[in-house]
Amino acid sequence: MNKAVIDVRDIIDDIGAEEEFSFEEKFSPIKTETTNIEFVEPVKFDIKAQNTGSGIRIKGHIRSALKLVCSRCLNEFSFPVDWAIDEIFYKPPAPEEEAYTMKDSTIDLGLPTDEEFVLAIPMKPLCKEACGGICPICGEPITGKHKPHEEVKIDARLEVLKKLLEDQEQK
Ligand SMILES: [Zn+2]
Ligand SMILES: [Zn+2]
Repeated sequence: MNKAVIDVRDIIDDIGAEEEFSFEEKFSPIKTETTNIEFVEPVKFDIKAQNTGSGIRIKGHIRSALKLVCSRCLNEFSFPVDWAIDEIFYKPPAPEEEAYTMKDSTIDLGLPTDEEFVLAIPMKPLCKEACGGICPICGEPITGKHKPHEEVKIDARLEVLKKLLEDQEQK
């Protein structure tokens, strides 16, 4: 679990007061049930904190990029995430169970950022929208470098595989 703590003691007693925070934090990979998701770069926080009375409203951008594997060509690629955050972190007790809370005068944006970044990952990540996938003949990714195979007849088994791949794409 990552940590990114800001201290809002300067505005905590002053309803309406605002403070800006701009910093970077190196995040460790996020562990999910199936995999570890690595960050390609530090997480950049550009946020404004505002005292709302019942808590602190955090508004702004939290940005980084995740290392994902393309679902078509299986290459790793960098997937940028920009969380336009607008959330209230309540002084305890929270008004509802799932609400974010603050601790004394501090707010930890680490876990919310982990969660939001995982949610941003598409079901079928693509290195690019037009990713050609993997060639059924040679097994190489179909990129600009891949030359069409001349005079190669796709035999029946590959035809089946091709059909399977196409069916998968459509799901
Ligand atoms: Zn790809
Ligand atoms: Zn090929």
